[in-house]
Amino acid sequence: MAGVAVPIVELTGGVKFPMIGFGTWQSAPDVVGNAVRTAIDAGYRHIDCAWNYFNEKEVGQAIKDKIAEGKIKREDVFITTKLWCTYHRPEDVKRGFQESLNDLGLDYIDLFLIHGPPAFKPGPKWFPTDDSDFDDADYVDTFKAMESLVDEGLCRAIGLSNFNTQQLGRVLQNCRIKPAVNQVELHPYLVQQKLVDYCKSKNVVITAYSPLGSPGRDFAQPGEARVLEDPVVLDIAKNHGKTPAQVLLRYHLDRGIVVIPKSVTPSRIKENLQVLDFSLTADDIKTLGSLDRKNRYVDWSFCKTHKYFPFNDSA
Ligand code: NAP
Repeated sequence: MAGVAVPIVELTGGVKFPMIGFGTWQSAPDVVGNAVRTAIDAGYRHIDCAWNYFNEKEVGQAIKDKIAEGKIKREDVFITTKLWCTYHRPEDVKRGFQESLNDLGLDYIDLFLIHGPPAFKPGPKWFPTDDSDFDDADYVDTFKAMESLVDEGLCRAIGLSNFNTQQLGRVLQNCRIKPAVNQVELHPYLVQQKLVDYCKSKNVVITAYSPLGSPGRDFAQPGEARVLEDPVVLDIAKNHGKTPAQVLLRYHLDRGIVVIPKSVTPSRIKENLQVLDFSLTADDIKTLGSLDRKNRYVDWSFCKTHKYFPFNDSA
């Protein structure tokens, strides 16, 4: 059953990828189910999940509920999930994938991403507290193991997240199946033009995460600059009769970038989808881009000393 007419971008192999998805990071397990049900009712047909969001059972149940209700069929909804860094050794990749698949209660995933280039030691300690928790596994080998999941029909596309240009280049050079997507943090305070241009030149679709500046994340710094409250964003929103969030989402869509806002608030879930009846001008986009301050809200600082830490280079 059709949702809202969200624009679609085609991934390698013709897989259709809705350009607005629904984020689920830091949506608590006891609220994420209602959020996903509300999102599906509102018209979202793309849900962004991950093993380390620790809520995939609840997300999966919500999807099942909506299928049982007849609101959607499985093939109407695009599901992304991500391999956590403790599963990077090639022999662990399928197990990491299978855990997400089982928790979501699905029999295939539309898009499976490496959550980030650094590997951590396999085992239950999923979050490193010092360098001894790091692992050497090479993300190229991880990606090659993910290619087998495509061969087996378990996922329709595979890709990356938090990869810089050099790391993405290595994967492109060494892999049989091209990474379809690189999911990275993007908003006017972190424009990453070099990375965006590189991905576009290689036909790797970009998904913008934390498009609203992730104001509710549990490690938000008191007094941090909030892109959602930037006077320039507010001004552009006023000119278009839209909200600041809608302007920040449109900023990506108007540049051909997929966007995945998260909310657990029904009015915001709907608001974030009401972005198809306007566009920003070239001047608006330029002005928003000039706000760049290389400000990462999600900086992976817990693995800064890892050899594959992706954010040392400005790319
Ligand atoms: P975000 O979407 O930039 O911001 C979410 C926050 O903004 C929540 O606190 C939400 O509050 C609030 N919000 C949502 N809509 C709003 C609106 N219209 N007006 C005002 N406030 C609004 O942050 P994010 O969760 O960091 O990023 C989005 C998704 O990207 C994630 O959920 C996840 O799926 C993905 N992601 C991926 C990675 C990665 O490493 N690959 C990293 C980060 C995020 P309420 O929920 O209280 O409404």
